[in-house]
Amino acid sequence: ESSFGQNTEPRREQLDENAFIEYIRDKCILCGLCIRIDHEIQNSYAIDFAERGFETTVAAPFGLDFGSEQSDCVFCGQCVDICPTGALRYRPAIRGGRDYMLRPVTTICPYCGVGCQLTLKITDNNQIIRVSGAHVPASPNPAGQMCVKGRFGHEFVSDQDRLTSPLIRKDGVLQKASWEEALDLVAHKLTETIENYGPDAVAGLSSAKCTNEENFLMQKFMRAVIGTNNIDHCARLCHASTVAGLGSAFGSGAMTNSIDEIEESDVLFVIGSNPTENHPVIGSMMKRAIHQGTKLIVADPRNIELAYFADVHLQQRPGTDVALINGLLHTIIREHLHDEAFIKERTDNFEAVKEIVSEYTPEKVAEITGISPEQIEEAARLYGSASRAAIYFAMGITQHHTGTDNVLALANLAMLTGNIGRRGTGVNPLRGQNNVQGACDMGALPNVFPGYQSVTDEALREKFSKAWGRQVPAEPGLTVVEILKAAGKEIRTLYVIGENLVLSDPDQNAVVKSLDSLDFLIVQDLFLTETAEFADVVLPAASFAEKGGTFTNTERRIQRLHPALPSPGEARTDSEILVELSERMGFNLGSANPEIILQEVAALTPIYGGITPERLHLGLQWPCTDADHLGTPRLHTETFTRGKGRFHPTVYLPPAEQRDDEFPFILMTGRMLYHYHTGTMTRRSSSINEHEPKSYIEINEDDARFLGITTDDRVKVRSRRGEITTWARVGETVSPGQVFMPFHYSESPANRLTGTTLDPVAKIPELKVSAVAIEPLQG
Ligand code: SF4
Repeated sequence: ESSFGQNTEPRREQLDENAFIEYIRDKCILCGLCIRIDHEIQNSYAIDFAERGFETTVAAPFGLDFGSEQSDCVFCGQCVDICPTGALRYRPAIRGGRDYMLRPVTTICPYCGVGCQLTLKITDNNQIIRVSGAHVPASPNPAGQMCVKGRFGHEFVSDQDRLTSPLIRKDGVLQKASWEEALDLVAHKLTETIENYGPDAVAGLSSAKCTNEENFLMQKFMRAVIGTNNIDHCARLCHASTVAGLGSAFGSGAMTNSIDEIEESDVLFVIGSNPTENHPVIGSMMKRAIHQGTKLIVADPRNIELAYFADVHLQQRPGTDVALINGLLHTIIREHLHDEAFIKERTDNFEAVKEIVSEYTPEKVAEITGISPEQIEEAARLYGSASRAAIYFAMGITQHHTGTDNVLALANLAMLTGNIGRRGTGVNPLRGQNNVQGACDMGALPNVFPGYQSVTDEALREKFSKAWGRQVPAEPGLTVVEILKAAGKEIRTLYVIGENLVLSDPDQNAVVKSLDSLDFLIVQDLFLTETAEFADVVLPAASFAEKGGTFTNTERRIQRLHPALPSPGEARTDSEILVELSERMGFNLGSANPEIILQEVAALTPIYGGITPERLHLGLQWPCTDADHLGTPRLHTETFTRGKGRFHPTVYLPPAEQRDDEFPFILMTGRMLYHYHTGTMTRRSSSINEHEPKSYIEINEDDARFLGITTDDRVKVRSRRGEITTWARVGETVSPGQVFMPFHYSESPANRLTGTTLDPVAKIPELKVSAVAIEPLQG
């Protein structure tokens, strides 16, 4: 009997229609902790107290479920973490055992480049059944924030589809094999290719999902054992233009400032980046800054969530970023908002840029971009007048055939206003994958050794040749798209670690043809991915939860991974596989122990010189050159890495593909909050998949009305390269004439539609602009 009488019925219905969280009113003591964490840390303002007196309750808008269309809940799960009574808890299907019965292991999230530390909660029989935020001081988010992917996207680790033994193709079918047999065959085929065609007939793709140590070993394997610089990874598809552009302008291609400075900016300029979906913890930090008074400029063709908080939202036509940024420079110079002292003391080549941007009047830029001259001027004044303005960008800037120019134009903007080298300023690329920064740092690139040391520099080649006891090659190798284009011709054998090219690379039909035309394909992965299905040998690898080593996050912070589980079956770490394979090819690659590998990295890589196993707890950010160095949270403070920052004139070039009568829409592709990349991990999470089970294409409501399409209608999408079917999502997120698709769904592969026009410098494909046609399908 309740103390208030006979009625022991719950006073409010349980809210549990979503896939993740439930709320049981009777257990709630109205402490408000969940509301405070939602408002003060997560900044979603998704829940609040509702009703009055005895009826008071915690509720989403209108008392509807947290997952309703009216709700702003993004299922970060922090309210569940903090609820002291269990009134808020995970849905039964994903709830698992009690905390005290679980083994906690704190490690790094395997998803985006924010690099949140999180604590895996593991049962006696080695199942991760819960993940909670970890409060680690020297980390990107000491408050222990995380997003829905980090919280709920862990089921893939114990998925029944994990590869547990090597597979060899026999009679056209992949069949189980022993490690001995598989590695012997791989070693034999690699040797045969080298003997028949030379070392440059072999190419390797490393992985932004692998640790620094594994990436280091992979590039060492390709350079020292195979003898080629044909080594690349998926940074080619995301931030190759950043590395090239910022490298030329500043001398370093990485994020200039640190995540914890976001709240210190007076103005945030977010361009071509959708942080609340792709880097959600950074997105929520930006929202917190905005609530505290930071001004926000968003430049994005789509109405992304942050656009609703923006003081100015510039909706440029896809592929017109150079014109837009030049227009901002033009206005800032015209209105004398530029920092003449900074330009004079810290930079060179300003006059060349000044001359070029003099042509980019707001009126001319308006014609190109579709943004009004007044908005361009307003944004320029806002950015140009701020004492601390920071630029944040991602693939909306980089995935263009003018990607390097886009990045150079942003660097011009920051240097023009002196917004570099101080807290709360900078040019900050948000890296997409958990260790894409580290994979670049470790030299999984065709033109540089670890630490961006050029392969064309004789003295550096000498250094690496001496250290490894093998002459390393001098010619820069091929990039990802070039490797695929050369498959079956110059490239005969391809070794792919942790990449799913069939879904992630542009022009899927061409990718499939390339893989088909190889003499031999080796794929090393967790699952039999769409790419592994083409392999001659498949090698089962360990997941992030089953190994040690380090990841480097988007702010250049090196963080330690802690092994939490044994690998399933016979799966091995990538390092163990590479070391054994090398041995079979007559070369001692060194130890597979991550700590020993990290010591070799430190010895050969000046920017990692002070990153040693004993100092990892410090969460150091490179450059960290020796054992006494405390890392570099902010680059270019006194001088730029290259000495003086260099202005580069950039000229607007239209996108490679235009709309026409046959293909009247511009397709943009990208990620969404709940799923990740090619879906191999998040689509194995029951809750995430229940919430976002099927692919979609965003269509503007005017276009949809004209085509007779409503939300959830099945549609066919066609480009010059192929066609797919998907479901329509009609609304105002995209403008008329533009559509958007996430690329996570193998059954509706968006990259069957995208093209391979490359940026001439960074060789990144123009994934953000493809002309397509859309038609409704029956049923
Ligand atoms: Fe993981 Fe990124 Fe989400 Fe953090 S923000 S939990 S690193 S996916």
